Amino acid sequence: MDSLPDVQTESPLAVLRRVFGYDAFRGEQREIIEHVVAGGDALVLMPTGGGKSLCYQIPALVRPGVAVVVSPLIALMQDQVDALTAVGARAGFLNSTQDLAERRRVEAAFVAGELDLLYLAPEALGSRATVNLLDRGAIGLFAIDEAHCVAQWGHDFRPDYLALSMLHERWPDVPRIALTATATSATAAEIATRLDLTAARHFVASFDRPNIQYRIVPKREPRKQLLDLLRTEHPGDAGIVYCLSRASVDKTAEFLVHNGITALPYHAGLDAPTRAANQQRFLREDGLVMVATIAFGMGIDKPDVRFVAHLDLPKSVEGYYQETGRAGRDGLPSTAWLAYGLQDVVQQRKMIESSDGDSARRRVLAAHLDAMLALCETVDCRRVQLLRYFGQDGSPCGNCDTCLTPPESWDGTVPAQKLLSTVLRLERERNQKFGAGQSVDILLGRHTDKVRKYDHDSLTVFGIGGELSEAGWRGVVRQLLAQGLLAVEGDYGTLVLTPGSAEVLGRRRTVMMRREPERPASPSRAAK
Ligand code: ADP
Ligand code: ZN
Repeated sequence: MDSLPDVQTESPLAVLRRVFGYDAFRGEQREIIEHVVAGGDALVLMPTGGGKSLCYQIPALVRPGVAVVVSPLIALMQDQVDALTAVGARAGFLNSTQDLAERRRVEAAFVAGELDLLYLAPEALGSRATVNLLDRGAIGLFAIDEAHCVAQWGHDFRPDYLALSMLHERWPDVPRIALTATATSATAAEIATRLDLTAARHFVASFDRPNIQYRIVPKREPRKQLLDLLRTEHPGDAGIVYCLSRASVDKTAEFLVHNGITALPYHAGLDAPTRAANQQRFLREDGLVMVATIAFGMGIDKPDVRFVAHLDLPKSVEGYYQETGRAGRDGLPSTAWLAYGLQDVVQQRKMIESSDGDSARRRVLAAHLDAMLALCETVDCRRVQLLRYFGQDGSPCGNCDTCLTPPESWDGTVPAQKLLSTVLRLERERNQKFGAGQSVDILLGRHTDKVRKYDHDSLTVFGIGGELSEAGWRGVVRQLLAQGLLAVEGDYGTLVLTPGSAEVLGRRRTVMMRREPERPASPSRAAK
């Protein structure tokens, strides 16, 4: 590095150009970097692809001392260090994946002041040895990446992050920058409190990703719907398909491969070498489709991901935003596509009910799910709703499904009353609880074995629901669940009434619903 100018005397802009090869700062990068270089604390909320890394990497190069970067993304530390080394920055990491010799080498470099950046996992700061090590070097900056992980009521809480409040206590003179790509104003406030950053300057970029087209469709035959999407709109494109379970990841990947699409699975059940190999192929090859659980993607920087498809409902709007945000980092048109159905709602409510943690934790999870459902069922612009969730304004975007083909809303009060009174009668007259399927069969007047067995064809509501198809009734159930006018409970997802149900049944409340396209007759159904 002898021929290079002394970086400590260079301006941030000069470093941006010489080291990173970019012409100009983006958005608020310049303000953020100047603030941190001058020794100020910062909390940065910026969407994925907004350019958060440079906000701490440039100060790391400009300020004297080593920048300590706390990141939960152990699997990516090597890549980050390689990328920095390639541009001539001196970077290293300490984590559980390395052998002792390597560790000693990095520690020695840190103590000797021969590093610009040192990456650490949050759990490392819980160990005395690491804290003692940090005491022996000169720290110029703390960067806390994925800062939303410190928020207990956020969507991705990691207990190790709570220990990060000690950074400021132990090294009060070292400036800190905390960064995240997802935070509602409530989560941002919690981050600031927990990390002692309330006096820090807050930089909040727009969360809008105008090149991403948001679409949420009713789930019918999800794999087939996905295949149609890939064939008609994204042939040969790279993309990510998210599924909830490992089994469904495997099945979906097989299904796509069987249909001529190059797809790879990724989930925590695969061994580490397979996971790493699949991730590498996704990053390096063109046009690969990664079918994954949400274990995949945090910190993955692939600019040309053209679509992100969800075959199952994300647990929160934050999760949805973060996952869809992996599409279109290069700014080119991309698709965020989600298929969701009644079963998703039932399954997730069940998962919340049986989750560990106290009732307060379950309430938070339920609130996250409710917000996600509201986004799915909205008749307004998806983007406006998404931005509003993060406390930002927007106007109808023209680039989401509800803007492109505005859904009709219709007065669904009467069908809602029919459905709810079916649940009520089962409960009151028979002392029984059933899942959605049985109520729908009763309304449609179907003489199934189960209907006969329980003598449900003698109920007064039997057969009164001819105005809607089965899919139509399932839509009614789903929307009632989403609006809190009905609830599910127990292992079998049985339907139960809520205080809101009583209002609908007592005709004190009308229920507006979103009209869904009736299902086109598909060969596979007709054959049944
Ligand atoms: P984030 O961490 O916010 O998701 P990154 O820091 O990974 O985003 O940046 C996203 C992409 O944008 C990267 O490829 C990065 O090199 C690029 N980038 C960041 N800042 C600039 C800039 N000022 N000019 C051009 N490209 C930039
Ligand atoms: Zn829109």
